Formats: sequence, structure tokens, C-alpha cells
Amino acid sequence: EPAEKADVLFVHPDVRRMLMHAKAWTEGLRALCLWGGLQVDLEDHAETEEERQAASDLIGLLTPVIKGVGTDKGYEIATNAQQVYGGHGYIQEWGMEQYVRDARIAMIYEGTNGVQAMDLVGRKLAMNGGRAMQAFFAMVAGECAAAKGDAATADFAGRLEKALGEMQAATMWFMGNIANPNNIGAGAVPYMHLTGLVAVGLMWLRMAKAAAELKAAGEGDAAFLDAKLVTARFFAERMLPEAGSLRRQIEGGADAVMALPPEMFRAA
Ligand SMILES: Cc1cc2nc3c(=O)[nH]c(=O)nc-3n(C[C@H](O)[C@H](O)[C@H](O)COP(=O)(O)OP(=O)(O)OC[C@H]3O[C@@H](n4cnc5c(N)ncnc54)[C@H](O)[C@@H]3O)c2cc1C
Repeated sequence: EPAEKADVLFVHPDVRRMLMHAKAWTEGLRALCLWGGLQVDLEDHAETEEERQAASDLIGLLTPVIKGVGTDKGYEIATNAQQVYGGHGYIQEWGMEQYVRDARIAMIYEGTNGVQAMDLVGRKLAMNGGRAMQAFFAMVAGECAAAKGDAATADFAGRLEKALGEMQAATMWFMGNIANPNNIGAGAVPYMHLTGLVAVGLMWLRMAKAAAELKAAGEGDAAFLDAKLVTARFFAERMLPEAGSLRRQIEGGADAVMALPPEMFRAA
């Protein structure tokens, strides 16, 4: 904006990157929380025993993910928001530093996120012969397959399917390395984030599908629906590729994590 005294922060792609990251994770995680609340209701009130069991399995599996990934992302988003303001984010006047401090505790209380991740891989993953995780895989794979047939959601579905493949490979790796508990402990947090990425990816697939259908029908607020579709695309292009990185961290195992003796952690 050369005619103006200064550019507004919104013109900078890197500022946009941080704001889109915040928007994509916040809206996706809110959808996952609401979906989780629905499973809690279905666990008690669904019509058949089979449906009640399925809801119970899914919310049992994903509760540590909703807590752990939700609060890790909340903190990351708060510090990014501080960064958006530059030096003004660091000082007290604008309130961002208070958000950062407030968001930090949620990663610690109600079970630290490290312990939430241990609950996921050490207990929930293998419970009932892995029934809940198998049901989660089938749900994501089924919705991806259906969405690939629709031009509006095909690209997103293909990318989510790929992320699911990384998660399934990481799960197989855990199964083959269960004899070494350090491998499980060292991979637990990346696995929790991989699961969260795929679960929030599923929420964005559903939101993109709903937005595309409403748009095609000429219903709803067009600007709101377009924003949903753009944010879904951002999540697909910029967030889902992290699945490959998380898988490789898990498959790196615990050797380098556990190798150093405690005295080597002192500053030299
Ligand atoms: C402001 C605030 C408010 C709180 N409010 C409440 C409250 O209202 N009610 C209440 O009951 N508690 C409350 N707490 C306590 C809170 O729940 C605990 O601080 C939290 O559960 C972590 O326990 P800890 O502090 O003993 O840490 P530790 O358990 O000692 O954890 C230290 C580190 O070790 C890791 N760790 C520990 N065990 C394992 C393991 N087995 N595997 C892998 N990693 C492990 C943890 O993830 C963490 O990184 C509050 C704490 C704070 C700071």
C-alpha cells in the first residue's frame, strides 16, 4: 500500500500464515469438541446398544487427544498471536501476554499432555484388541472415499487419506515395537498430535462438505461458506502434510532420546 503511511499487518503473508493457522486449528478443534460432546450424549442415549458402544469407544479413544492437542494448539496459537503484534504482543497493554500465560496452564493441569499421550498409546490404543482405533480408521477412510467422488472435496479427501495412511503406518510401528516401552514413551506425544491432525482433518472434511453443499444449493451466508472452504484448503495444504513428519519422529524410536546420561543435560 505505497500510497498509505504504512501497511496494515494483514498484507504480510507471514502474518496471514499465523492468523490462518489460528483460525484453522481453532475452528477445527471447536468442531472436534462439539463432536466429542455428541459422542458423550450418544454413549447414553443412542437407540441401539451397538451405537452406544461405538460412541463410547470413540470418545474414550479421543478424549486424551481433544485435551492434549487442543491445549497444545491453544498455547501455540496464543504465542503466534503475540508474534502477530510484534513488540506490542510482548508488552502488557494489548493483553496478548496474559493469554499466553493463561493458555499455558491448560497443558499442565487436568493431566499433563505428556500423560494424556501415554493414556492414548499405553491404554486406549490397545483396549479391546484395538477396536476403537480400528473404528476410527474405518470412519475416516469411509468418509474420504465418499468425498473423493465430489469435485468440491476430492482434493481435501485425498490429502486426508494420505495423512491417515501415515497414522496407520505409525500405529503398525508401535505394535511392532511394544516390547520396548521407551519407544512407546518417546513416540506418545507425536502420536497424539498425529491422531489430532487426522481427527481435526475429518472435522474440516465435514465442514468443507457442508459448506460446498449449502453453496451449491444457494443457501446460507456466502462469505461465511467461502471462508470455511478457504480455511479447509489451508488446513489440507499446510497442516495435513505434518503427518509424514510426525510418523518419522515416532519411527525414530527412543535411542537418541534415552542415550545421554543425566549429567550431560547440564549446560557445559
Ligand atoms: C494453577 C494450577 C491449578 C491447579 N488446579 C488443580 C485442581 O483444581 N485440582 C487438582 O487436583 N489439581 C490441580 N492442579 C495440579 C495439576 O493437576 C498438576 O500440577 C498436574 O497434574 C501435573 O502434576 P505434577 O505437577 O505433579 O507434575 P508431574 O506429575 O511431576 O509431572 C512432571 C513432568 O513429568 C511428566 N510425567 C510424569 N509422569 C509421567 C509418566 N508416567 N509418563 C510420562 N511422563 C510423565 C509430566 O508430563 C510432566 O512433564 C493445579 C496446578 C496448577 C499449576
